Amino acid sequence: MDTGIGTEEATLALTWTRSIEWDTDDWRKSAACKDTDPDLFFPIGTTGHAVDQIEAARAVCISCDARDACLEFALSTNQESGVWGGTSEEERRKLRKAWLAARRRRSA
Ligand code: SF4
Repeated sequence: MDTGIGTEEATLALTWTRSIEWDTDDWRKSAACKDTDPDLFFPIGTTGHAVDQIEAARAVCISCDARDACLEFALSTNQESGVWGGTSEEERRKLRKAWLAARRRRSA
């Protein structure tokens, strides 16, 4: 599945060492989705119409200046539902495992 996020960008999201003290209002100000219908980013289910909805949401994320911060926020706060940082729920579950492992390695 194409996440719309290249390997380099996914690596950045997984290795970003910024402390988790970010000003959520700061990155949200540059969110490409700030004026879109929030329902687009929280489809019901993962099949049928939801697939089109997920792809439409990710199309917004592709040009979002806040994508890295958004993805880090979602991984850090374990946002299980919706599209965050251009990732689907399933993609984020996989990314979060790797993200947690990278954090453990850094703190060891
Ligand atoms: S990456 Fe997507 S969900 Fe996150 S702020 Fe940007 S447009 Fe919104």
